[in-house]
Amino acid sequence: MSAGGASIGIALCPDHAQTAEDLLICADIALYGAKDRGRQQWCEFEMVFRTRTERQHQIQQELGMALSSGQVVAWFQPQVELQSEAVIGFEALVRWHHPYLGPISPPEIVAAAQATNQSDRLTATVAEAACQLLDELPALGLPKAHVSINVSPREFELYDVASVLDSVTGAHRIDPVLFEIEITEEAMLDTAVAGEQLRRIEQSGYRLAVDDFGAGHSSLAYLVSLNVDRLKLDRRFVRDIATSRENQEVVGALVGLGRSLSMDVLIEGVETREEARTLSMLGCQEAQGYLFSRPMPAAQVADWVRERQGTALAEVA
Ligand code: C2E
Ligand code: MG
Ligand code: MG
Repeated sequence: MSAGGASIGIALCPDHAQTAEDLLICADIALYGAKDRGRQQWCEFEMVFRTRTERQHQIQQELGMALSSGQVVAWFQPQVELQSEAVIGFEALVRWHHPYLGPISPPEIVAAAQATNQSDRLTATVAEAACQLLDELPALGLPKAHVSINVSPREFELYDVASVLDSVTGAHRIDPVLFEIEITEEAMLDTAVAGEQLRRIEQSGYRLAVDDFGAGHSSLAYLVSLNVDRLKLDRRFVRDIATSRENQEVVGALVGLGRSLSMDVLIEGVETREEARTLSMLGCQEAQGYLFSRPMPAAQVADWVRERQGTALAEVA
């Protein structure tokens, strides 16, 4: 207890646990639940807390099998040139539909992979799917479109990212200039290990994008020191862009920043025509978001591209 008040976690015997040790664990979990809700709260241990922990364990236990059996897959979300809406690339996003837990979110998958030392396998799985799509794109009339994958900064400490990518892209004879790695910018990147890895990624010829720029970890010093090809502005700037002068000023400034550093600037999370119009007026050249397409299974990409090409031809005629 402190002057600011107390948070209380309650666990009952035998409802929540049968032994003293388990009861204390349950009370502790309930206490965290109480603190989560704000100050001076009390919270009874509910099965939901236990379920959350059990769910994490189950995800960790089954991830290896899910990676081997093809349950973990990549979906793809198109990236477009804002004015013409021409497709410039696709972002690979991990998906896992568990047979009875249902959809597992990407952050849960990434966390489970890290906890079980399987981050390299996860990246290899997504990179393999990205290469398969890159193999298909020329036949779809998109020989210059890139495919990007996400790598979280912590992963650079865990395994040799460049080697994993080299072996996957090498097997497909992919031109590395079409393969992009999106990293979120975090303090974690400021290590000798990450620096060395990023240099190798750059030497191999892959393109580098900084993801979620402006989401809180950004630092200009990093941006200048890393050899970044594309700046992805966080989707928080899109909300109310048509009316929020503040967001308009920020986006305009960030577009200028990207340009002066010779980076492509892409804005994420565009959901409406009005947002797209305003962003285009502010000088944004590239965008991604539900307006153009939600992420889709690899098998749907070809139809999606052909359908759009059909519409574009109809518009010209
Ligand atoms: P991200 O890389 O910033 O990916 C964009 C996220 O925004 C995706 O969520 C996408 O589905 C969502 N999104 C796209 N357009 C819109 C829109 O118009 N509105 C809204 N509200 N959302 C939109 P998702 O797929 O749930 O992924 C979440 C995050 O998980 C990703 O954020 C990325 O940081 C991480 N992630 C996904 N796949 C992988 C992976 O294979 N490896 C690693 N390390 N991280 C991954
Ligand atoms: Mg991303
Ligand atoms: Mg992002």
